[in-house]
Amino acid sequence: MIAFLTMNRLVLFITLSFTTISQAQILGFSPASAAHEVEIENKFKAIPSADEERRQHRVFTHEPHTAGSKRNNELAEYIAAEWKKQGLEDIVIRRYDVYGTNPKSASLEMIAPTHYQALVREIPIPGDDDSKNPAINGAWLGMSISGEVTAPVIYAHSGNPEDYELLRQHGISVKGKIVLVRYSNPYSYRGFKALTAQREGAAAMLVYSDPQEDGYKKGKVDPDGPWGPEYHVQRGAITYDFMVPGDPQTPGWASVPGAKRIPIEQAVSVPKIMALPLSWHDAKPLLESMDGPAAPKDWQGGLPFQYHLGGERVKAHLKIEMDNGVQPYYVVEGRIRGSEFPDEWVVMGNHRDAWVFGGVDPSSGTASMMELTRSLGELKKQGIRPRRTLVVCSWDGEEIGLTGSTEWGEQFADELGKKAVAYINVDEATSGSDFHGQAVASLAPMLEETTRGLRDPSGKTLYDAWKAVVEREKKEGTRSSQFSASGVVNETLADTRIGSGSDHTVFLNFIGVPVLGLGFEGNYGVYHSAYDDFFWMNQFGDPGYRYHTLMTQLWGVTALRLANADLLPFDFATYAKNIRRFVSELAGENKSVILSGAGSNERAQSKDVSSLDLREVQKAIDNFEAAGKTLNEAMSGKLSSGTLDPQLASTLNQSLMRVERNWLNPDGIPGRPWFKHILYGARYTYAHLELPGLTEAVEKQDWPTAKQQADVLEHLLHKNTDLLRDLNQRLRQ
Ligand SMILES: [Zn+2]
Repeated sequence: MIAFLTMNRLVLFITLSFTTISQAQILGFSPASAAHEVEIENKFKAIPSADEERRQHRVFTHEPHTAGSKRNNELAEYIAAEWKKQGLEDIVIRRYDVYGTNPKSASLEMIAPTHYQALVREIPIPGDDDSKNPAINGAWLGMSISGEVTAPVIYAHSGNPEDYELLRQHGISVKGKIVLVRYSNPYSYRGFKALTAQREGAAAMLVYSDPQEDGYKKGKVDPDGPWGPEYHVQRGAITYDFMVPGDPQTPGWASVPGAKRIPIEQAVSVPKIMALPLSWHDAKPLLESMDGPAAPKDWQGGLPFQYHLGGERVKAHLKIEMDNGVQPYYVVEGRIRGSEFPDEWVVMGNHRDAWVFGGVDPSSGTASMMELTRSLGELKKQGIRPRRTLVVCSWDGEEIGLTGSTEWGEQFADELGKKAVAYINVDEATSGSDFHGQAVASLAPMLEETTRGLRDPSGKTLYDAWKAVVEREKKEGTRSSQFSASGVVNETLADTRIGSGSDHTVFLNFIGVPVLGLGFEGNYGVYHSAYDDFFWMNQFGDPGYRYHTLMTQLWGVTALRLANADLLPFDFATYAKNIRRFVSELAGENKSVILSGAGSNERAQSKDVSSLDLREVQKAIDNFEAAGKTLNEAMSGKLSSGTLDPQLASTLNQSLMRVERNWLNPDGIPGRPWFKHILYGARYTYAHLELPGLTEAVEKQDWPTAKQQADVLEHLLHKNTDLLRDLNQRLRQ
């Protein structure tokens, strides 16, 4: 689950203080170490093969493998066995007994004004033999409740709160009724739609794929093109994991067998509404037959008739039977132990569970991971071990509620807090050729530098290909470059705004581990449907498996740099620029937030209680940036002199790892204590939310809470500034 990244992300453009990187100049490496690193990376990059990527992809896409299914558990065993052959160490399959979700049956019948029995499943596509597989499940949404209802159907557009507001203005209540909503662009997590429908008192929610979003209005549909055909159904979970991810009955601790479980009624992330996804084929008869006011222009979709809001005319009978309950999920874990710092970990992961075959999501990532582990194993056989430990995990139940990674992270939170350098997530490795890289701001320069040393199938460096994507999206307006400080000499391409929706969440938001996310994206209209499969990948996504191969190279080189660096390549000056940007955006959207500069003094001097003064926070950011800049200079000076004492390097690295941990507030953000990071968070829609506690308080105009959150931010900025100053002093001694 991650297909929405390009649609709602903004990219920051930030001044970089680095000049062009020559071969033997790598962030965090002395010249001698860099020369050695280049050799290792060249050996590594030569290993991954497109044929192997394709072979592994076929293994994983051969059968449906939903979380908790027999096939998905067999694939866990398969991964463990392959890793053993490949030379990985300490391979273990970890079991978590979690509250899972499985479909039993679903039926939808329109009973008025005419009769229509919905298919609630997909039909085979010519040429795609896998689409005939009888093991393909029907339409279902994870964590729907079981139930039965006969009621009028109301069209509620995207199912967001403002949509129900509009219905109310037309005198339409959805209480006790069935709401029909559509998947939306920009992406909004379907779980938020379900929660909103539940709060509005609807009896059930149907969510369908309108051809305007991912179907024929976009272009040719499968099997003639990459877009979603008439019968495709977007499955997915509706778990309220924006409140707390993972097993709903063990919020904040691991679901190891025998763990304490809270009663299901107390689990805030479990929905209390029936919900079912539909193809537009099944939604059309309902939409077509509706009466009531004509839908406003932006509610109109791609089907060839006027949409209406609905009234009493269309009635439907919906019945859903689910099998929700405790069942085991399995996380596979392996590693290559570090030769010098076995207790410093670079963690990597991809989820294994798919809604059906998971051609893109996640099996493209799984194939890239299997080729990554094979290549790292090859290096080990050649006598090349990383200096730090590489830990690799195959997560389970990501699609249900980020479940496997969350439970694993919760189980090892203390150890990860001491040992984890970074977490590199690959969910969907490729649905096309457009690279998107995501990183906490301190790792953005390092990620960007890494892409300069890789070749895109187009012949350009991956860096140049990436830059072209960002520039194109800027032009198209799918991204915006709001940041243009004077004197910009270079741009950071990495997306430094990180929401939720994949397995990085526990690392960043619960443990304070810096995260990176990598993916190639393209036109992809079959997300979470039965048509997201091997056929689709070979026709449209990545026919030559070249982007799979490039992903393996990128993933591995990024990990090796983090594992082998003399000094961990964090750039806190860049982090400071991002934080400043986040704060100024908050002030830009809320007139009651006071920053230094023209126009705000008068308001500030009035000591207005209904406002928030962030000038001290601004000063703290300035100090953090200055300390980060000085540290960057001290680190690169020490490295280029080749006189870095290994003992000193080791203690410095331990401290460098603490900076991200320090952004955690043990109390969490107000109302969502599991989410502890004060800079990064997610809205209920999964969209990125910077300065989450502060921003939500400002949006609610809850000034006492906003002030308290601002104090936390200021305090942690001071704490990290002191840490950087101390490091700087030790480096200059
Ligand atoms: Zn996924």
